[in-house]
Amino acid sequence: MGDQLWMTVDPLTTFIETSTPCAAAEIAVEAVLPELRKDLGLDAVRVRWFKPETAERKAYRESTGSTAWHSFEGGSGLRGQCLGREPSEVWIRSDLDALDAAEVLAHELQHSKHFNDYISGAAELPDADDGEQEALDYGKAVRQALLD
Ligand SMILES: [Zn+2]
Repeated sequence: MGDQLWMTVDPLTTFIETSTPCAAAEIAVEAVLPELRKDLGLDAVRVRWFKPETAERKAYRESTGSTAWHSFEGGSGLRGQCLGREPSEVWIRSDLDALDAAEVLAHELQHSKHFNDYISGAAELPDADDGEQEALDYGKAVRQALLD
């Protein structure tokens, strides 16, 4: 697969999927995914990679004043995504280093768990801020565990 496949998240957020993430990110994700799935009680998860935003795209997005982007990195560039309509997929930016990739994977898997729990009736969806905080905390905990 090349880099042609686009995934439109909303009118202003489009991913360009790539099958060739940087090696560090790919290795880190493959190494930690089984344990994180087990920890969160998730079944099969498909990891997909998207290319970093281009300068042209960023300028366009900023010119529109879009707030449609995920808040994870304070507007400086989306690093991951998990969508409620496809909770068994997590998207990770293809240029992350190993620790960032592992943290983002954990973060997005926590969102995946929220969606799965909601779909199965096991739990209500958390309030958006609470869900984001839980994902941030889980990502940071996984990063710290890898450093320890
Ligand atoms: Zn998040």
